Amino acid sequence: MSSAPLSILQEVFGYGAFRGHQAEIVEHVCAGGDALVLMPTGGGKSLCYQVPAIARQRAGHGVTVVVSPLIALMHDQVGALEEVGVHAAFLNSTLSFEEAQQIERDLMNGRLTLLYAAPERVTTPRFLAQMDSLHQRGLLGLFAIDEAHCVSQWGHDFRSEYLGLSVLHERYASVPRIALTATADEHTRADIIERLQLGEARVFISSFDRPNIRYTIVEKDEPRRQLLRFLRDEHEGEAGVVYCQSRKKVEETAAWLNDEGIAALPYHAGLDAAVRQKHQDRFLREEGLVMVATIAFGMGIDKPDVRFVAHLDLPKNIESYYQETGRAGRDGEPAEAWMTYGLADVVNQRRMIDDSPAGDEFKRVQRTKLDALLALAEAHDCRRVRLLDYFGEASAPCGNCDNCLNPPATWDATEAARKALSCIYRFQQAGREWGPRSFGAVHLIDVLRGKRTDKVAQYQHERLTTFGIGADLSEQQWRSVLRQLIALGHVVAEGEFSTLALTESARSVLKGGETMLLRVPAEAPKRGRLSRGKAGSAKGKTAPADLDAAAQQRFAALKAWRAEVAREHNLPAYVVFHDATLAEMARQQPGSLAALGEVSGVGAKKLEAYGQEILRVLAAEAV
Ligand code: ADP
Ligand code: ZN
Repeated sequence: MSSAPLSILQEVFGYGAFRGHQAEIVEHVCAGGDALVLMPTGGGKSLCYQVPAIARQRAGHGVTVVVSPLIALMHDQVGALEEVGVHAAFLNSTLSFEEAQQIERDLMNGRLTLLYAAPERVTTPRFLAQMDSLHQRGLLGLFAIDEAHCVSQWGHDFRSEYLGLSVLHERYASVPRIALTATADEHTRADIIERLQLGEARVFISSFDRPNIRYTIVEKDEPRRQLLRFLRDEHEGEAGVVYCQSRKKVEETAAWLNDEGIAALPYHAGLDAAVRQKHQDRFLREEGLVMVATIAFGMGIDKPDVRFVAHLDLPKNIESYYQETGRAGRDGEPAEAWMTYGLADVVNQRRMIDDSPAGDEFKRVQRTKLDALLALAEAHDCRRVRLLDYFGEASAPCGNCDNCLNPPATWDATEAARKALSCIYRFQQAGREWGPRSFGAVHLIDVLRGKRTDKVAQYQHERLTTFGIGADLSEQQWRSVLRQLIALGHVVAEGEFSTLALTESARSVLKGGETMLLRVPAEAPKRGRLSRGKAGSAKGKTAPADLDAAAQQRFAALKAWRAEVAREHNLPAYVVFHDATLAEMARQQPGSLAALGEVSGVGAKKLEAYGQEILRVLAAEAV
């Protein structure tokens, strides 16, 4: 058997060519070099270590140990490798003692090409002793450290067990290592290099663009109604994730979606581990389910046909937003990232940072990161240009985000901003006379619009010079102004009652200078359909739009066949074959094993295992 990377790609995985930097990375690692790979979610990181693992095993260098925090996904990852005929196993806390012993025997006998293990397992004295023994025999081929950003405290998924992984370099300096992550910021990258001692590693940075994902951010206005419209109009019967901030909101939203006839499952860290695993398995195995989740869900989820990721609450920062939205459309087909956000989100996120027990420097970094996300949300130019710019990549307007598709109207809010600031200034002055009072957003807007509420009467705010000076603007417009002022850091909402206060920088706005252009909030923005034909022609049965009727039927028959195989093997359907591979079979109608083997995604093992059956399914549809 050849140990040339390209032959392995073709023979084992059934793919014609490497993508992007894959070829370079694979070559470098096969030759024994260290690598740090930064690639967006869905970019194809797995093959970067799986192909070298096979190559090095074939060349007699032994096993590849894959370090991953994703215990709940190891079963499926290993299943996918076994499907293509690669001997793989995992060691983690879900195994019984006997099962683990069997795998250790396989490991020591050289029967494994890849072994997945959690970091805490890799660094146990027992496992290190086993690796010592393999190493002495020259049978420790490669270390792959997946989700390498977990080593960074600055990142969003810090795992202290990752810090112990520096032992790999100290103990097995001659064994090559490849670290992989989809987190791109400089800080995290520097941490990975330092903490994993990857100073000598070649760094491969891919473009972080995900061109098939359409970005949309809408102003919060009855978020449930907005979400329902998004799901019904654009994604009926499709699989997707809805992110919420709290466990309670996850539960409520999932229950409500089910009441509305949309099959949804909750997922958060407060659920029993068994329930979490069951919901994750169902999401991966069944079609068209909506997962309503906190950020506890999603890392490493490699379901290729997630068609949308919706945010009902604002994420912490752009890194989190990009990672979460990146779970959509890994198959390269059109997918959508959709978010609603409002004033309360801004205030909440700021408060969470302020109230956290972290040190000042950490808080300062978190605030800066939140500001960048708010600027993205308020932007009226291309969202993708801003996202990529954040990751240090220059680009041109994309034509596939809400702002490119429907450029929002803007209005000059400079004067309005000044009015709002001076009104807050009057509150503060008044506060000095009467002691601290809680004047929040609602009251501010009432005063600006000249509404005679009880609170206005109580504090005699109708006497303020700013009373009623903003009657010409709607409440919604004022909320938008205030949100922007908070996003820009000119105003803060402090304390339990979100009392508004000016910051230093408000002074320059009050004095004039910068103009402030705001989006005109659109009630129901016109939305171009995703360019993949009518979604949800029948619930859960979306098919590639470019297949004719007969091919659609073959596609459906192949999917039914695949569902049975997946059930038998206890694996998600996409592990057997991707939709795209089945669609290609339906389109080409191969009549022989040789022709079937040419279809992308059909490797030697799958051809041998399933070839005859697939030809039979296709032949049955031909009559
Ligand atoms: P990541 O781990 O970077 O998020 P994956 O490794 O899961 O991405 O790859 C994303 C998808 O792209 C997978 O379905 C994978 O099979 C596919 N893929 C990766 N590389 C290639 C390639 N060279 N040719 C065809 N498909 C590929
Ligand atoms: Zn754009």
